[in-house]
Amino acid sequence: MTSDPLLKVSNLTKTYTGSPSVIGRLLGRKPVNVRAVSDVSLTVARGEILGLIGESGCGKSTLGRAILRLHEPSSGRVEFAGTDVTALSAPDMKAMRRRMQIIFQDPYASLNPRRTVSDIVGLPLQLHGLAQSRSELRDKVAMMLEKVGLKAGQLDRYPHQFSGGQRQRIGIARALISNPEFVVCDEPVSALDVSIQAQIIQLLQDLKREFQLTYLFISHDISVIGYLSDRVAVMYLGEIVEMGPVDSVLSRPRHPYTQSLMSAVPEIEPSGKAQRVRLTGDLPSPLNPPAGCKFHTRCPLATDICRVRKPVTETVAQGHTAACHRLDENLSLLEGASA
Ligand code: SF4
Repeated sequence: MTSDPLLKVSNLTKTYTGSPSVIGRLLGRKPVNVRAVSDVSLTVARGEILGLIGESGCGKSTLGRAILRLHEPSSGRVEFAGTDVTALSAPDMKAMRRRMQIIFQDPYASLNPRRTVSDIVGLPLQLHGLAQSRSELRDKVAMMLEKVGLKAGQLDRYPHQFSGGQRQRIGIARALISNPEFVVCDEPVSALDVSIQAQIIQLLQDLKREFQLTYLFISHDISVIGYLSDRVAVMYLGEIVEMGPVDSVLSRPRHPYTQSLMSAVPEIEPSGKAQRVRLTGDLPSPLNPPAGCKFHTRCPLATDICRVRKPVTETVAQGHTAACHRLDENLSLLEGASA
């Protein structure tokens, strides 16, 4: 890994506009704006794995897709290898996608059931003109299948003829066949049986090494993030609330939300070091986010200022930042652990 940033995201925001229902329109309701990602800035160094953690619905997948412009950002900038990808024309962006790929969560839903593995995995080669003939395409696909632990002889099979883990290997082969530099791994193991998850994580690590890849690894599972990542970004309701080297953030989490995530890790509890922090309430709706600190409706440490003023992001240790009004007080929800 080098410190050279391959990806630089600055103030990225993604807002969706939802139309009211027919009845809503009859009642005079106006379209509503939902800020799924709000003013996110981050970098990913070449060769690094940045883990992105947060609850379902917090905007992690939207951020991953907005970085790749699969969902067009509403504002902000994404630089990849020095190029502002947010300013690229559609044809230039198409060419850039060869270098920036995604592995989806649900391997079955993301594979066309009517296409063979050869068609599915070979599609990026066709799109980017990376195979001059049908036989070259099949040879390259066969080689890629073997890299991801499948057999070259499975080229002409259909997705339904594979297990869940094998289907995810097909999704990985499709993402990597165009020889990208950067891959968004969007919850790539969460739809799989626990026994298969470890195999896929190992495969992603091996492929990263072999192809010198850089990952944005999205997960709601802090154990997976802690195991794989070099750095971690913690997301809550569309915003990054804490970010830094994985050892620093996970051994000394400073934001109460990160502390609550940490307290749910099973390994911590038996040691008696920490007790589980149960957050009250659900993730608030992004349709109507709380004022001030967005976490205040669930934060056990919230005070009056939290309800009205948004905290600024501060540096709390080398490369480690957090956004909370009470950082100076060194509080921790993790009983027995010093903040
Ligand atoms: Fe909790 Fe207040 Fe910190 Fe937000 S700013 S995390 S509500 S203590």
